[in-house]
Amino acid sequence: MEKNQIILKGIAAAPGISIAPAYLFSKESESVSAEKIENVDEALENLDAALELSKKEMRKIFNLAVDKIGEKRAAIFEAQMMILDDPVLTSNIKERIKNEKMSPEYIVEDEISKYIRIMSASNEPYMKERSHDIEDIKNRIIRNLKKKKWKSKISNDVIVVTTSLSPSDTVLLSRSNVKGYVTDFGGLTSHAAIVARSLNIPAVVGIHEATNIIRNGDLLIIDGFHGKVIVNPTDILIKEYEEKIEKLSQYDEELLKLKSLPAVTLDGKEIKLMANLDISEEMSFIIHNCADGIGLVRTEQLFEEYEVFPDEDQQFEVYNKIAESIYPKVVIIRAFDIGGDKVLPVDLHEPNPMLGWRGIRLLLDSPNLFKTQIRAVLRASLHKNVWFMLPMINSLSEVVAANQLIDECKKELTEEGIKYDDEIPVGIMIEVPSAAVLTSDFADVVDFISIGTNDLIQYLLAVDRGNEIVSSQYQEFHPAVIRTIKHIIDEAGKKSVPIGMCGEMAADPFALPLLVGLGLESLSISAAGIPLHKKILRSLNYSELKRLADECLNLKNEDEINNKLHKFFNEKISDQIKNLY
Ligand code: PEP
Ligand code: MG
Repeated sequence: MEKNQIILKGIAAAPGISIAPAYLFSKESESVSAEKIENVDEALENLDAALELSKKEMRKIFNLAVDKIGEKRAAIFEAQMMILDDPVLTSNIKERIKNEKMSPEYIVEDEISKYIRIMSASNEPYMKERSHDIEDIKNRIIRNLKKKKWKSKISNDVIVVTTSLSPSDTVLLSRSNVKGYVTDFGGLTSHAAIVARSLNIPAVVGIHEATNIIRNGDLLIIDGFHGKVIVNPTDILIKEYEEKIEKLSQYDEELLKLKSLPAVTLDGKEIKLMANLDISEEMSFIIHNCADGIGLVRTEQLFEEYEVFPDEDQQFEVYNKIAESIYPKVVIIRAFDIGGDKVLPVDLHEPNPMLGWRGIRLLLDSPNLFKTQIRAVLRASLHKNVWFMLPMINSLSEVVAANQLIDECKKELTEEGIKYDDEIPVGIMIEVPSAAVLTSDFADVVDFISIGTNDLIQYLLAVDRGNEIVSSQYQEFHPAVIRTIKHIIDEAGKKSVPIGMCGEMAADPFALPLLVGLGLESLSISAAGIPLHKKILRSLNYSELKRLADECLNLKNEDEINNKLHKFFNEKISDQIKNLY
């Protein structure tokens, strides 16, 4: 029987079109089933390795947590570590594996669940709460036991459908040749969406009922330009979309012909188009698309998949490789921006993580962690093409404190006879409104500034960037946003401090004419977008962009600005590009 075609609408989070069967991905799909095993010794070895890895992860988490939340709350993690060391529990598990010849995942699940059941049946709220922690540790062990397994379940060419995605899931899944992402929840600038764009994989997020409606194996068309997902499309529609895919690839080839030409307007204004780097796979793409450097390395993203913080040498290897690959162009390495929706090992259950322990706050509270990164960045700076950037800056004292740690690290390295760039430029992201207000003061003490619109918009407008319920309120063309951007550009300009933008707004083709008109000369976007930006810029006059920006600055609401920019785009940009949108 032919299945009914259903069209679902969501938020267009990463452009592109693909056609492939659905793969319903859920963390629960890692849940364990009662599986018999043949090789008991191997199972016991796997168990030991998973316990070891879990302990290692927990130790890191504990150390990090103690630094900030104090011994008392960090004790949660200590309790979890104790479970891992509980000889009764581990020997019970081992005995059962030997006797019952069942997989370690199954036995771990069964054995630890007994504790959980007892605790959650308790009338004591404290005990109930602790049962979640034990659930956590159980999942951690099972995940470590199964690490490689879920990946192998994914065959090539599927569109992943899931309730929500973490950035690390997005990366890990992409390694299995995923052709698209569809989620129930999530917004345009959630980190998973950003990663999907970096990977050049179409994504539609915030569909709400996607996982209810779509079944494993249903054929899907994902249209990441328009935020559409078509379930069980008719043959006519499949043909139509196959033609679109063909046209897109021809157009990509066209655009790539521009790759070695500069991004310069018809009247000679040159704009630097740099690339954001979220995952190491992007490096070759960045070089291929001739980026004018790397304007943002999201180091936390690079390391999210490690689960634990890499040590100085591991970090040095990664940063050095990036710096060498892009040399002599510049790479801006951003210090770990941990927290917010970028979860790392610590789940502090903060009521409001976006306003919580995040970015520079966490780094300054964890000087050992921060210094490890600073030393690695300094060591990679030897060829003088590395800049270092601080995230989530809110006050001058944070810059002073970070500079102190940088100086300490320089001193240590000098004493150890290790070379580095003594004049490494240190800059900040302006992504918190307080920093925007103080731009002029920051300009006195930093070497460069980069505007992070993803956070700036969320904090300026008080709209969670990852929450699709309020996504219509997340307005990059809100008058307050563009006037704030103008303020930052002007104030930095007065002090001749280099200023760029690395938030997603810089990647929006409709925003591009406005941003250049406002005076930005350097934009950092995902490498995939560079050729199209170049094509757009090469068809415009800077003088008209300045006029356009002035007009927008005088408008009073978002609709008017949005309409003006769309009208401008439709009038000025060639039909060929328009048809893509
Ligand atoms: C931003 O906030 O605009 C930004 C570039 O940082 P991130 O998206 O990593 O928070
Ligand atoms: Mg940010």
